[in-house]
Amino acid sequence: MLKPRKIRGIARETLDFILNASRSSHPDEFAGLLEEEDGVIANVILLPGTTSSSMGARIHLDMMPLHIHAVGSVHSHPTPDNLPSRADLAFFSKKGDYHIIVGYPYDENSWACYNARGEKQNLPVLDVELGGDERW
Ligand SMILES: [Zn+2]
Repeated sequence: MLKPRKIRGIARETLDFILNASRSSHPDEFAGLLEEEDGVIANVILLPGTTSSSMGARIHLDMMPLHIHAVGSVHSHPTPDNLPSRADLAFFSKKGDYHIIVGYPYDENSWACYNARGEKQNLPVLDVELGGDERW
């Protein structure tokens, strides 16, 4: 059976990818799911059917491939406000325990991580070598 794994942090490379993707999506929102490797958040899965609008990015959970064991999600806000909205909180409670929100201007200080209950939690940024598993 799947058991929840302790997450040690996020790979710096992965965080850089998230910040760049958020910047290039601006003023639209960027959204994806987070996957871990050996206890480190190392992959961002962009879902088909993810839409963004003035109402915010919507991740279509029903389109999620079954092999993905996401530990949480990531999305951006086009404003400096990186607090979860009511819709964000509803989504957080459904999938995983690590949910990153990146606020404008999408730099190292403008993101935050929340747990499934929407409480802010510390997510260390780790300098790790990511495995050579080139799936994307
Ligand atoms: Zn949001």
